Amino acid sequence: MSKQINVALIGNPNTGKTSVFNALTGLNQKVGNYPGITVDKKEGVCKLPRGVKAHILDLPGTYSLNASSLDENVVIELLLNKNDKDYPDVAVIVTDVEHLKRNLLLFTQIKDLKIPSILVINMADRMDRKGISLNIPLLEKQLHTKIALVSTRKNEGIQDIKDLIQDYKSLSTTPCLDPTTIEPDYFKRLDKAFPNQDVYKLWLVITQDVNFGKVSRQELDISAFKTKSASELKRLQQKETIKRYQFINNVLKESLTIDSSKAKDLRSKLDRILTHKVWGYVIFFFILLAIFQAIYDWATIPMDFIDATFASLADWTKNTLPKGAFTNLLAEGIIAGIGGVVIFIPQIAFLFLFISILEESGYMSRVVFLMDRIMRRFGLSGKSVVPLISGTACAIPAVMATRNIENWKERLITILVTPFTTCSARLPVYLIIIALVIPEGRFLGLSYQALTLMLLYILGFGMAVFSAYILDKVMKTKRKSFFVVEMPSYKIPLLKNVGITVFEKTKTFVLEAGKIILAISIVLWVLASYGPGEQFNNAESIVKTENPTLSDLELEDKIASHKLEHSYIGIVGKTIEPAIKPLGYDWKIGIGLVTSFAAREVFVGTLATIYSVGSANDNEDEDTIKSKMAAEVHSNGAKVFTLASGISLLLFYAFAMQCMSTLAIVKRETKSWKWPMIQLVGMSIIAYIAALIAFQFLK
Ligand code: GDP
Ligand code: MG
Repeated sequence: MSKQINVALIGNPNTGKTSVFNALTGLNQKVGNYPGITVDKKEGVCKLPRGVKAHILDLPGTYSLNASSLDENVVIELLLNKNDKDYPDVAVIVTDVEHLKRNLLLFTQIKDLKIPSILVINMADRMDRKGISLNIPLLEKQLHTKIALVSTRKNEGIQDIKDLIQDYKSLSTTPCLDPTTIEPDYFKRLDKAFPNQDVYKLWLVITQDVNFGKVSRQELDISAFKTKSASELKRLQQKETIKRYQFINNVLKESLTIDSSKAKDLRSKLDRILTHKVWGYVIFFFILLAIFQAIYDWATIPMDFIDATFASLADWTKNTLPKGAFTNLLAEGIIAGIGGVVIFIPQIAFLFLFISILEESGYMSRVVFLMDRIMRRFGLSGKSVVPLISGTACAIPAVMATRNIENWKERLITILVTPFTTCSARLPVYLIIIALVIPEGRFLGLSYQALTLMLLYILGFGMAVFSAYILDKVMKTKRKSFFVVEMPSYKIPLLKNVGITVFEKTKTFVLEAGKIILAISIVLWVLASYGPGEQFNNAESIVKTENPTLSDLELEDKIASHKLEHSYIGIVGKTIEPAIKPLGYDWKIGIGLVTSFAAREVFVGTLATIYSVGSANDNEDEDTIKSKMAAEVHSNGAKVFTLASGISLLLFYAFAMQCMSTLAIVKRETKSWKWPMIQLVGMSIIAYIAALIAFQFLK
């Protein structure tokens, strides 16, 4: 006597159902359509020993029996309708060993319908590499089922499935969960009303709006049990899901172990080290250290070259073209201004070279993941790390990047603190001040100057995190969002992609920041070259009568600085001098501070303009910005740029909100002037206090 066994293959999408189906049926299969809908229906035949035939149905992938799509309805309708000609004698639930927990939810639901079930745990070939081990006999006992451990890829375990199907009559139909535990009142009432029906099946009929093949609807008057509101039913469904996961967790706690230290594939190995609780941070720290050291060592050569080139170009212009206002504008305003932009190209290019290599290689996602552990504690989202790291380029794209933080409070905090991170506009200021006041020695092979730069980056990041913490405490709302990050696989960075990023970022800097720097350089030159009243216009005769004994060269110097002091810009600088004196700055630095409220990077250009205007010294060595700043002295002969005033300036620039464009973008993103104003005032106060404390302590 030959009998046909109906087998349904059920499982979450991508667990390998179709692969199992192919392994069981080989070429004995056909693809049709479910009546009325365009969902593929795959059927096939599997020959078992003793002339038994199994009719195999490959059902569409489904996550649970709480249907939400057409595909899933197909599965539920079949399982709830005993009269369907395909109604399974045995359900084969296919799971992926790597996602067993999630996959078992559906298994427990089908089991509770009391359909004889076989559990196929597929992808067994991956267990070794992932360090997964399973106690199969224990798992079979806990789930009241029979298990086939299968790898369709290696064609292993297929015979086990066949044997289990053949013996389907010996399968237990003991359920996993007692449905009355979901909500005793409701389910006991249901049981009383329909004593001949299965409670869990009833529950599914009530909650699903699918067609159960007329029969059940006519047989049952379930309307009384649908009186509960839809949201109430949803709540019960959620309760059911939670109960099921509790059950699954308890089961897997005993029978499944994942020893990630045994995982053997390269990616898991790398992930384990790079996102390690301790080593992950240590490695990230050393990578940053290496990057900053490299920027220092490699960028100084082209930078010195550019610096010298523009200095001699300005010299040549002055000496070749006819003397006059235009030549001065060209040499002292325009060429100096362009030089002030071009000189930072090497540094910015190197920084973005490294950032884009980190991104392309897949390491950056690990950093985001790593930093999420810290960020959480400070009212920031893990996603805040992306804006904060992009902030090292420029606060403007960084503020825009906060858009993918769903939680408004976390997003606002991120926007408010992002300008603390060290953007590339601060880099020029940092570099020149560091070169001036930090000694050149090395510590363990690392230069003091590189270390200082790195400290400034850490300081900016630390301040951002610290103020986020304060803001989180000040702003009341409690809600936290969840953090999900896609971990791409590691790959060798594509040279082309890296190249494009470096080129684009550098171009943006030159065009966007460069525009402002150049424009302001020219405006500054004008403001510095003209002034109101006697003192400016008759500077020459005034200086000559006051200092009758000076040599020509010294006289020229004196006149130039006298003019600058009484130019328009000198007046502004002098006006604010009393306020900035306690920070260790004179009125010339004051001018730099004022102009850099437009954009920080203008500071260096400003000083370059001021000093090249202020010193008519023709000595070749004296012509670079750096040496001019180094030679700058107060009226009492003391150096202007000392360790104390230098650190004070560095701190001021680290904390102050000196960027009109960022304020504009914050206004746009928060839709009010309130937040950018809070940012401007708050950050300026912090900067002033930090600079004041630093100077008063160090002087
Ligand atoms: P379905 O969506 O459940 O029908 O799953 P498929 O049969 O289409 O398989 C999904 C993916 O898993 C495919 O890329 C298969 O190559 C892969 N796959 C299936 N079985 C195995 C297995 O035993 N081992 C491994 N490593 N991969 C498998
Ligand atoms: Mg499939």
